[in-house]
Amino acid sequence: MRPFGTTIFAEMSALAVRTGAVNLGQGFPDTDGPAAMLDAAAEALRSGRNQYPPGPGVPELRAAISAHQKAFWGLDYDPDGEIIVTAGATEGIAATILALCEPGDEVVCFEPYYDSYAASIALAGAVRRPVTLRAHDGGYAFDPAELRAAFGPRTRLVLLNSPHNPTGKVFTPDELAQIAALCEEFDAVAVTDEVYEHLVFTDADAPHVPIASLPGMRARTLQISSAGKTFSCTGWKIGWICGPRDLVSAALRVKQFLTFVNAGPLQPAIAVALNSPPSYYEQFRDDLQRKRDRLCEGLTAAGFAVLRSEGTYFVTADITPLGGTDGVDFCLALPDRCGVVAVPTQVFYDDAAAGRHIIRFAFCKRDEVIEEASTRLRRL
Ligand code: PMP
Ligand code: GLN
Repeated sequence: MRPFGTTIFAEMSALAVRTGAVNLGQGFPDTDGPAAMLDAAAEALRSGRNQYPPGPGVPELRAAISAHQKAFWGLDYDPDGEIIVTAGATEGIAATILALCEPGDEVVCFEPYYDSYAASIALAGAVRRPVTLRAHDGGYAFDPAELRAAFGPRTRLVLLNSPHNPTGKVFTPDELAQIAALCEEFDAVAVTDEVYEHLVFTDADAPHVPIASLPGMRARTLQISSAGKTFSCTGWKIGWICGPRDLVSAALRVKQFLTFVNAGPLQPAIAVALNSPPSYYEQFRDDLQRKRDRLCEGLTAAGFAVLRSEGTYFVTADITPLGGTDGVDFCLALPDRCGVVAVPTQVFYDDAAAGRHIIRFAFCKRDEVIEEASTRLRRL
């Protein structure tokens, strides 16, 4: 694991603390989630739910995940055997890759990719086969020929993150259909990271569509998500995996030796949050969309070429108009130049040149924080 060093998120948050800069680097909200969820956690702590919960997760949380999957995506998962709770999406992804890959198996993923993917693939002794998302028409796209070329006889998994961190891209139905067809052709399992499932903005080209809902895909998809983003509780680390029984049970086999079980009192509280009325989810999306617009205005006024963000907590921007050539150098100098922290996206690519001039800003922050950052960035 030596080549992996410290994650960029920890590094940039430490830089923000050291310099007193406004932290638009690591993606975490600066306000709390629903009051009913916080109350339910406090109640669970006080009512003796403090010992090991069941390995697959507490029954009321699995029932709430099942109801949520049905209500939002029309997918049926049996809470008893087709759903397990994990320590955030991160553990779900790691357990899945470790469970399903033999050394030398290949995992197709899209770059820039969330940093834990490369590490989990390496831990399994598997090989990543990245397909590059490139700036295209104001947003991001992949080349279908490159996607096809990434598949081969050793392909075991396709790791798909939509809405996508760090680009804010939402994969279109046509792109999902291409991926699904290749999964069928090469008998690959789709592993989806849908932690931003409720953050697709109203002006996106397409709504969120879980690839599991495409014809034939439910049987070969493990769908992973997390409460962290949707309910503004990234520190709780409660996530889940849904899928067919055999694949979920393989992931559980691994999970039991990674963490065994996850925070008992927080699980019933996430069940309460998942049962929020539809208006909660709409308002959450609308709030973030407003924040996105506010930050994009600030970035544009500061001179960045802003790329389209259709979802997630993030927007990416090209530093070239400001004379920048290397995102890492630019982000390391940014706190001194104007007191703001951002994240260079080139660290999420194998093909570093592809993201060299692009950096990422998080807008999941209070309006006054976004305003302050925008004011500071105008000093560039
Ligand atoms: N996947 C993506 C795309 C993310 O942005 C994050 C960060 N929250 C995670 C996974 C990790 O989620 P969790 O904190 O639930 O492990
Ligand atoms: N998902 C968050 C981000 O992309 C950070 C999570 C982490 O720090 N590992 O910024």
